[in-house]
Amino acid sequence: MRQHSSSLRFSIEYDAIVVGAGHNGLTCGCYLARAGLRVLVLEEYHSIGGMTITEEITLPGFKSDIHAFGYQLANASPVPKELGLDRFGFELIHPEILFSHIFPNGRYISMFRSLEKTLKSIEKFSVKDARAWYNLFNKYLLDREKIFSSINSPPVERIPAAEEYRNQLQSMRSWCDEYFESDEAKVVFGTFAAFVGLSPDDAGGGEVCHLFASIAQDKGNNVVRGGFGNLPKALARYIESKGGVIMTNASVTKIIIENNKAIGVSLANGKNILAKRLVVSSIDPSTLILKLIGQDHVDSTIVNSIKRFEWGDSVFGIYLALDGRPKYKSDQEVASSSQIHISSPTLENFSKTSYECRSGMIPSNPPSIMSNESIMDPSRVPSQAHGTNKHLVKVLVLSVPYDIKNYGINNNTNNMDTNTDWSHIKEQYSDQIIDTITEDYIPNLKEIVLKKVTYSPVDYEKRPTTCIRGTLSCGAVLPYQSGSMRPIPQLSNYKIPSLQNVYLCGSGNYPGPGVSMAPGRNAAQVILTDLGINFNRLEG
Ligand SMILES: Cc1cc2nc3c(=O)[nH]c(=O)nc-3n(C[C@H](O)[C@H](O)[C@H](O)COP(=O)(O)OP(=O)(O)OC[C@H]3O[C@@H](n4cnc5c(N)ncnc54)[C@H](O)[C@@H]3O)c2cc1C
Repeated sequence: MRQHSSSLRFSIEYDAIVVGAGHNGLTCGCYLARAGLRVLVLEEYHSIGGMTITEEITLPGFKSDIHAFGYQLANASPVPKELGLDRFGFELIHPEILFSHIFPNGRYISMFRSLEKTLKSIEKFSVKDARAWYNLFNKYLLDREKIFSSINSPPVERIPAAEEYRNQLQSMRSWCDEYFESDEAKVVFGTFAAFVGLSPDDAGGGEVCHLFASIAQDKGNNVVRGGFGNLPKALARYIESKGGVIMTNASVTKIIIENNKAIGVSLANGKNILAKRLVVSSIDPSTLILKLIGQDHVDSTIVNSIKRFEWGDSVFGIYLALDGRPKYKSDQEVASSSQIHISSPTLENFSKTSYECRSGMIPSNPPSIMSNESIMDPSRVPSQAHGTNKHLVKVLVLSVPYDIKNYGINNNTNNMDTNTDWSHIKEQYSDQIIDTITEDYIPNLKEIVLKKVTYSPVDYEKRPTTCIRGTLSCGAVLPYQSGSMRPIPQLSNYKIPSLQNVYLCGSGNYPGPGVSMAPGRNAAQVILTDLGINFNRLEG
């Protein structure tokens, strides 16, 4: 039976309630507060940040970025400047070497802040490929303003011209083959598609590679000083400076709807909180529709469409506190890179990993990404200043199955547990990844491990609960789940058609995954327009 407001007990009143204090919920909250609304942000975890959280999970004083480490797409965001986040403790470190991709034979390619140095690094493998990157990057520069403006505005539905349509759908392999001749350059640029779970042959990978690599080349692969968690903290401080409130340990179980309008939310602790004007959610769209709002309040076409929303490949993480500096087979130059990409130099290996992952097998030799946390930011480890040599890295395996259907590595069960439960397999798998990295890339890695903590996809999805199936894309990046079709066409304008004042502002919406602050800011543009407030005239 539906409850009516007269029978509900409300505590304090707010104009706007934001569900979820990930970086997008907080960004949206900032702009609503900036417009003078009394904002309440509710977060179910004991601290804010969602997938931009920093915690000491290995040893005391070792501050790991549990999810996001690289400040990449966020470089295209106007938010930090617009809100003056530097006043609230937000500061970026700008590494000179953005990414180094290392291969088993000790060879490598690095992307530098300086385009000239990047080109020199690619030239070691192919002069033609260096020229190709120069041309691709310049093409991006010509379009940059348009690209940034489109990322930071609600999506527009339009039919692309033929060339644009091709660019949008071209696979990573097709794009790499079109522009590069060396296997190494193909793998270096192709890896950016793997960042969002795309295999070499998935539609749309080429454009992701071009965009991601170009933004990095242009703006850097930056690092948040003190931990990524200082971004959500700065956003929260901004909201508080405008009189808003952030509440943690506050799990929203229901959005209370009356006459097609949200009037508040119910919390797991039994309390109801009134929202005078609106509720905006940064959690995944399917949980929002199916659980928090409920199927009675939305059109059945929306329910059916959101039920088939696809999540994509899961990720596997290894957090390592180290008693010494990693020593590379490659030139030590790569040691000062923000991120080290590790793989054999063939796109076939990426295909094999995707095949294994999507068939439910544990990938046998997956590409991985190592974040160089303490080298970039010594404040992430204890006592560095006092002469000890402690370090901290995170190794992320980009494609593993959530449901293990075929146990063992590629069905070779000789040295693997035959259990299909991640909790039984994860330590053995992480040891195997470390063994491979030690043998082929970083010979001293194994001997300097002080403490290892392993996250399987099942661990990732425990917290935040929006990390569904341990995926990092908040919904797979597929052509029919992108642009004005994200998450589904009916919800792409950050609104729910049947409800007057419920909005969406998380990465399940355009432009999608990654720390970009764009879904949060774009949703705020839509909300404030609905309230008759001019977003572009906001100040302070
Ligand atoms: C392992 C990993 C590594 C990544 N690395 C990078 C990287 O290097 N660079 C990059 O740009 N991106 C990276 N990403 C992606 C990026 O972190 C996410 O896309 C982004 O942070 C999502 O932000 P969000 O605000 O949309 O959602 P979230 O951060 O998921 O925020 C949603 C919040 O809602 C809360 N919540 C959920 N349900 C409720 C409820 N019922 N009531 C109240 N609160 C609720 C959650 O606890 C969470 O805090 C990574 C992701 C993963 C998983």
